[in-house]
Amino acid sequence: MMVPTTGFDTVATATATLESARPLTASQRIARWVRRDGWPTREGGHDPAKEAAVVPVPDASCAACGGSTGGLGQPRASYLKGSFMDRNAFRVQHSASLCSACVLLMDDRHARTTILLESDAGLRALDRQALRDALAEPPEPPFVLVVPTSLKKHLIFRATVAGDRDHFPVQYEEVPAWVDRATFVPVLLLVEEMRAVFSGDEILSGRYQQHRIQAFGLARWRASEAVVAAHRASPSFPLLVMAARRPLDEEQGSSTAPSNDGAGEE
Ligand SMILES: [Zn+2]
Repeated sequence: MMVPTTGFDTVATATATLESARPLTASQRIARWVRRDGWPTREGGHDPAKEAAVVPVPDASCAACGGSTGGLGQPRASYLKGSFMDRNAFRVQHSASLCSACVLLMDDRHARTTILLESDAGLRALDRQALRDALAEPPEPPFVLVVPTSLKKHLIFRATVAGDRDHFPVQYEEVPAWVDRATFVPVLLLVEEMRAVFSGDEILSGRYQQHRIQAFGLARWRASEAVVAAHRASPSFPLLVMAARRPLDEEQGSSTAPSNDGAGEE
């Protein structure tokens, strides 16, 4: 039966076109690589047969990442377990639907435990050394960088896609840490010098052991700490300290360390 065309149909078609033209969210960008190549981790792999089946959903926008559902996904109420703690961070609170990308990622431990760098070149799992290098020399945008530290929370749906190599967001645990490269890199290099003597906790807190100050040199420490102190309150500072290369790392070859060693300072 032919349905007569009305103004509403035209609006619906235009809306559908706009929907399909929406840029992919961080979740959707990462899930496309996982589906194609599996997880870029040591265990790797991804079994599409184990993905939760997607069903028609009513909302155009994914509750979690805010991206287009394309009409497919999972109803959020039945899909999320009662123990799911991250609802308050959802992007579209009024949506009752999750997109298929978020469904895939919320089902998989790798999504919570891996430092991930995504760009049009692919999806990589980073160790700390590679994280440092990605912060100093990010890929061509758009890209997504997600750095979990608790290894428990769902972070990817919160992440913002970076559009600029010189000023970009990093989803550092629950914090969107913006990196301004012109400021970040010189402080990173300075913190790396300090890490020859001081612990990460000392640099993070500003509370230093006297004997280490002496070992570093009092005047040198004063000058370094004055620079570091100006950045200590920045949301990107803990990320910087985590990524800073330690001289000991180079001796021990930490580039082979697992990607999920967290951000804990010794
Ligand atoms: Zn989503």
